[in-house]
Amino acid sequence: MQNCIVLNGDYSYLNTVNWKKAVKLLLKGKATAVKYTDAVIRAGKTVIQVPAVLKLMKIIRTIYRTHVPFSKKNIMIRDNYTCQYCGSKDELTIDHVIPTARGGKTSFENCVTACKTCNCKKRDRLPTEAHMYFKKKPVAPTISEFTRVKALKADILDLLEELGVY
Ligand SMILES: [Zn+2]
Repeated sequence: MQNCIVLNGDYSYLNTVNWKKAVKLLLKGKATAVKYTDAVIRAGKTVIQVPAVLKLMKIIRTIYRTHVPFSKKNIMIRDNYTCQYCGSKDELTIDHVIPTARGGKTSFENCVTACKTCNCKKRDRLPTEAHMYFKKKPVAPTISEFTRVKALKADILDLLEELGVY
């Protein structure tokens, strides 16, 4: 049986999947059929017409970008909405590792998620001066791991897996 074309929520081309995956996406309500093939499959008493073209219910935006744009929100996504100093998930702010007043840049490498308490405690000091250390060195996230985190949060990771994006 022929492969099914999957369109993104905005009708742009996304990928092709085999008919089994296409039917699964339909049955799970993650996509609607734009066009059907003549083929039908039977599951018990149910007869399902195999789709030729599917359109996703949601728009997946981040997959084909080449880099993750810098933003406070994206830092928090990278850090899994967790204070990088103490692990708290409350009252999150962005901490400049090297304070801006001392030449620290506003970048993925110099910014971490920190709770209000830790940020106040650290003030305008370096981590070594404040004796506050984070477990993971902050880096610019790659598009693939970032999309994975976002997909997990949006509960569409299984969808991406079915589409062969992962
Ligand atoms: Zn903290």
